[in-house]
Amino acid sequence: AAANIGVVGLAVMGSNLARNLASREGNTVAVYNRSRTKTDELVQAHPEAGFVPAFSYEEFAASLSKPRTAIIMVKAGGPTDAVIDELVKVFEPGDIIVDGGNAYFPDTIRREKAVRETGINFVGAGISGGEEGALNGPSIMPGGSDESWVTLGPILKSIAAVADDGEPCVTHIGHDGAGHFVKMVHNGIEYADMQLIAEAYDLIRRGTGRTPAEIADIFAEWNTGELESYLIEITAEVLRQVDAETGKPLVDVILDQAGAKGTGAWTVQTALSLGVPVSGIAEATFARSLSSHPEQREVARVLPGPGTEFQVDDADGFVEDVRQALFASKIIAYSQGFDEIRAGAAEYNWTIDLGAVSKIWRAGCIIRAQFLNRIADAYAEQPELPVLATAPYFADALTRGQAAWRRVVIAATQAGIPSPAFSSSLAYYDGLRADRLPAALVQGQRDFFGAHTYKRIDKEGTFHTLWSGDRTEIEAEDTH
Ligand code: NDP
Repeated sequence: AAANIGVVGLAVMGSNLARNLASREGNTVAVYNRSRTKTDELVQAHPEAGFVPAFSYEEFAASLSKPRTAIIMVKAGGPTDAVIDELVKVFEPGDIIVDGGNAYFPDTIRREKAVRETGINFVGAGISGGEEGALNGPSIMPGGSDESWVTLGPILKSIAAVADDGEPCVTHIGHDGAGHFVKMVHNGIEYADMQLIAEAYDLIRRGTGRTPAEIADIFAEWNTGELESYLIEITAEVLRQVDAETGKPLVDVILDQAGAKGTGAWTVQTALSLGVPVSGIAEATFARSLSSHPEQREVARVLPGPGTEFQVDDADGFVEDVRQALFASKIIAYSQGFDEIRAGAAEYNWTIDLGAVSKIWRAGCIIRAQFLNRIADAYAEQPELPVLATAPYFADALTRGQAAWRRVVIAATQAGIPSPAFSSSLAYYDGLRADRLPAALVQGQRDFFGAHTYKRIDKEGTFHTLWSGDRTEIEAEDTH
């Protein structure tokens, strides 16, 4: 038993994570892959890593010191179950199986329950940062038992990304599926952030006629202020890229149909069942779907638009308005995402420290940004904060930015430029801060056709109007 940690699955993520582990003081890493070639290749390419290769699950288990700890990095879904089944046969009570793949959190809850019966610990850990993160330091979101965290914590801390203040980007999120749940919402927020940036680019380009290279400079400039983030930084890089074949900006030759691997959809589906309005994430996910229906977009070209050229008078002023609209919408998207985590924690009995979540997203992951320090501050100040957007720093930004935000949404609407994430975030903001909502009328309608009853603003109780009778009001059983 020479190794203190093992990795199963040596495709790009697994081999990079294994190399990251091996590069840390005190780690000896056992490696196993279903097909032998990947193992041989990895071991040969990286003699400096001192890997302990295994060619069967028995050999893999025998090479690990106890409690055995193994991280699975295989294709999510069936393959993960297949590997867990094999590991359970050769591991013993007290050992730890970590799934570092992109599992859907209900699967993690199911697997944790099943594996726990054998006395083995199962930890679903969300890992963000892609291949580069896996190699140099990802943001890690582990679930699982407190017992497993004792062994696993130091190992994960040694390989995680490190924030500016020196803190590693990993924390024990909560039990069973909590880690994969938080990773899912991270990805949902990533969808919203990307869509908002894309809308900002589109509006600036169409409203001011700036070229992609000029807009790259604008984003690079924004990256020195409150919007500073990895996504803004790479946006500038993408916009600056020139296609070698045509000499055009690369963004102009890329097909405008956005792909998705499903984590945005999971975030939205989960939010719908939890009753949490994550409209920014939902609009971002739907915007990708809309873009990916060329057959519909082709026939819909005949539908009329406003029919005027979109040209703003004050280009610099408009760019600044868009910046403020982007920041305001971003605050709303994050506020909604953290709402979903809180609601998920309540539903699944997890104790999740929202401030700690924002801190481990500060480095290593795709949504890394200075901004996350502000979220951490907000939850440090008020751990039970009901609406993140109302924390002083964010409320100030919304107060400063809301006029610009409205101007941008108006301009986009008048010009016929789709800005679903900007406008839905603004609608959410106005809905949330409204004194009264037309939900009262919806309750009236529900009572009319379904006797669903309503409550009154002026007295306790549940009421129903006899709509098909004499239209008097009666006290009723509460049927919602
Ligand atoms: P893949 O998702 O492409 O999976 C390939 C690996 O799975 C290979 O090692 C393959 O073994 C193994 N595998 C497939 N089926 C089985 C099976 N039935 N039994 C045993 N092993 C099997 O690899 P990636 O490295 O791209 O991703 C690994 C995990 O990490 C995935 O869950 C993915 O979603 C996640 N991921 C996360 C990213 C992030 O940014 N966090 C980015 C990319 C991926 P073999 O060589 O024998 O075929």
